[in-house]
Amino acid sequence: MTLSAKVAVCRGKDAPFTIEDATLDALRPDELRVRIVACGVCHTDLAVRDGQLPVPLPIVLGHEGAGIVEDVGSAVTVAKPGDRVLMSFNSCGDCPSCAVEAPTYCYNFFPHNWSGTRADGSPTLFRDGTPLHANFFGQSSFATHAIAHQRNVVVVPESAAAIPLERLAPLGCGLMTGAGAVLRSMKVRAGMPIAVFGTGTVGIAAIAERLHLTQPAVSAAIAALEERHATRLFDRVGRGLELNDAGRAFLPEARAVLAQAADALGVLDDLAGLKRGDLRIAASQTVATYWLPRRMAAFAAAHPGVTLHLEVGNTAQAVAALLAGAADLGFVEGGVDEDLLAVDRIGGDRLALYAAPEHPLAGRPLAREDIVAACWVLREQGSGTRNHLEHSLHARFGLTLADLDVRLELPSNGAVLEALGAGGLVTAVSDLAAGPRVAAGLVRELDCALVERDFLLLRHRARRVSRAAQAFLDTARD
Ligand SMILES: [Zn+2]
Ligand SMILES: [Zn+2]
Repeated sequence: MTLSAKVAVCRGKDAPFTIEDATLDALRPDELRVRIVACGVCHTDLAVRDGQLPVPLPIVLGHEGAGIVEDVGSAVTVAKPGDRVLMSFNSCGDCPSCAVEAPTYCYNFFPHNWSGTRADGSPTLFRDGTPLHANFFGQSSFATHAIAHQRNVVVVPESAAAIPLERLAPLGCGLMTGAGAVLRSMKVRAGMPIAVFGTGTVGIAAIAERLHLTQPAVSAAIAALEERHATRLFDRVGRGLELNDAGRAFLPEARAVLAQAADALGVLDDLAGLKRGDLRIAASQTVATYWLPRRMAAFAAAHPGVTLHLEVGNTAQAVAALLAGAADLGFVEGGVDEDLLAVDRIGGDRLALYAAPEHPLAGRPLAREDIVAACWVLREQGSGTRNHLEHSLHARFGLTLADLDVRLELPSNGAVLEALGAGGLVTAVSDLAAGPRVAAGLVRELDCALVERDFLLLRHRARRVSRAAQAFLDTARD
């Protein structure tokens, strides 16, 4: 069944959009027909109008559509007639990007969004029986009705039933673009500086995500500030905001005050001469278990007024804690590649092979065949110790873990060392972890040199090092 609709036709930058009658094609099994209630106007629509993107003209644009489902194809499961839905960009669902739920990077993004037709080349819209370019971002929502697809439609949840569709429509592109740019692409965390130029849908979303506020909450806070000081800081341009002269004059002052407030609290602690304060440390397992405790104990004895907090996780978690301002210092054994952090070697350990003292491999240099023939107990997948063993075996013997006869995997250094007691098995752990058992004669180091591993100190480049943190580093380096 076909259906007539009114659509806004774009012919390029020298002609206005014109409202014309058109006919929607019959639905394919995976398509939905949506009666459009609202649609955002995005800069991308205007870039297409101005010929900056390779989209055929004339075309029906609009890609932040919101509306009510009227009809669905036989294979559609995401929504049913009567549902309130939002539309976003379309994707193929079959390519490597779609397989890892990254449809933004769909290998077939162009045919599904910008070709002016369905991906198979068939038209979705006709005018006087002749095809008209449409299916823009899988929708073309500057229209009374649009054909959308199973993969680019989201039902508005019950929890948002009271929110009008015209407020929700920009979620389809602008809001998720602003939030995604800040939270995912730029990985901005609390405490990091960010400049947002332009406060339309994308910019406001970026600021709101940054502040963990909703868009209405940001608007309300701005209005309250302006009212209290009887000074307008922004001009309202359409539905967006632009800093005016007063706002531009105020901005550097506001930023400076916020930065100073954060520093002032730290300075107060410093002025107290380490008689009080907090020092928050994030560390990965091996460092936290074998390297830090003695140093923390020494610091605690010297500075009883400073409270030490230790958060133990993996390397990625320690990096995240520093970026978020949740830790002052980080200590990890993994490689760290993060521009915002200063990374220095502060210590290290040595991975070595261990077995029960009576093990047949004990007491002689190990060859490649010994490594392959031995029965192993290893740390679990993802552990730094296991990764380090893999690198070492590859560098030294050209072996991978798949070449080893692994009989058992256990999730802690203590557990794998304990498993050696039953005889037979060989493992690889940090010399710091095995030290006490070696000293007690329970296990024995095998004769096989492996690569040393660095312990890294992490600090945030943009934050001052507090007196407590500096004092801890002085203790730790001794
Ligand atoms: Zn857009
Ligand atoms: Zn795809």
